[in-house]
Amino acid sequence: MRSDTINRRKNMLPVRIPQISPIGLISLLYALSLYIFYRQGFISGLTFSGAAVAVVVVVALFHGIIRFGLNQRFHEPSLMLPQLMTSLLIMLGVAYLERSTQVALVPFVLIAFSFSIFRLSTASLILLSIGCMAAYLGIILVRAQAEGYHFGFRADMAQWFVLALTLPGMIIVGKQIQNMRQLLRATRYQLEHYEEKSVRDELTGLYNRRQLQSELEQAKLQADSCDIPFTICLIDIDRFKEINDNNGHLVGDTILKEFARVARDSIRDTDVLGRYGGDEFMQILPDTDVKGAVMHAERLRVYAHFLDFQKILAQKHISLSIGVAQYRHGEKITDLISRADSALYQAKQLGRNRVEWIND
Ligand code: GH3
Ligand code: MG
Repeated sequence: MRSDTINRRKNMLPVRIPQISPIGLISLLYALSLYIFYRQGFISGLTFSGAAVAVVVVVALFHGIIRFGLNQRFHEPSLMLPQLMTSLLIMLGVAYLERSTQVALVPFVLIAFSFSIFRLSTASLILLSIGCMAAYLGIILVRAQAEGYHFGFRADMAQWFVLALTLPGMIIVGKQIQNMRQLLRATRYQLEHYEEKSVRDELTGLYNRRQLQSELEQAKLQADSCDIPFTICLIDIDRFKEINDNNGHLVGDTILKEFARVARDSIRDTDVLGRYGGDEFMQILPDTDVKGAVMHAERLRVYAHFLDFQKILAQKHISLSIGVAQYRHGEKITDLISRADSALYQAKQLGRNRVEWIND
């Protein structure tokens, strides 16, 4: 059974396939299409082999640069611009040598541009497409000079116009898709931000009561299914109303924030801390029984008692009363809170600044 699982895991390990950039892949496909031209007798073996060697060398070169991290030295580490430029140069060179390959030029130029739209700025794309179209026009005119302005020239120009009209259209559509992607990313970021805000208490930054409720439900589910104990502490600042009355509401706020900061730093990573309401906080301690939770609560109580509020508070210190209750298998969350509340009430009755708990 164990070895089965291990074998399955082994099988699931990702297979390392050497990553070739999209432009490199397009260049290789272009070379493949040239092979078909060659096999059909449209182009010479020399042109095909020359172009194929050029494509393989260029693809291997860029692959090596990226593989060994040398691309990180450049402003644009994907090296999209030089890759696209070399790929276009090879295609235009072949189109110059072999007129018949112009049929393949238009789709391959379009695909090559489409892959670079998300990486290159609009200015670079416009400049590159103008350069590409000018070079293509130059090739047609040079050829026409030698061969005359006959039918072939008119066919070449028709093809040139097709590319000249479709290339800007494709760049516009690509840029629109890019804008939509950016908008989606920004919306997702905002959504995450609001989601995060909706679970936090504004003053202290701790979880709010609603989130505590859902954390409790989750802890209950886990405890019921795995039989692992969890315990809660209801933490209340003693005579907080007096603090407010004697020092002002703003001082009260500062104390709540400072206490929250200290309490957050003092709990374990697995614990959950939230503001239950007013001057009352709740700590959820997973995988902890009442004894362990009382120890944690005691430590927090002592810690809070030694916080020095001399600068803002006449009485210098605050104190906490804490009620602890361990979850009983299958009980309702409201019953658990009610038992922690009874323990807290007991702590208040017995003189405050203490931890009380309900025995299981
Ligand atoms: P006890 O020792 O029995 O807990 O007495 P207490 O005065 O702390 O208890 P009580 O519940 O009577 O008072 C809590 C006070 O907390 C009352 C309320 O004005 C104050 N309070 C609630 N929320 C805030 C807040 O966001 N900021 C400030 N500054 N005070 C708050
Ligand atoms: Mg209080």
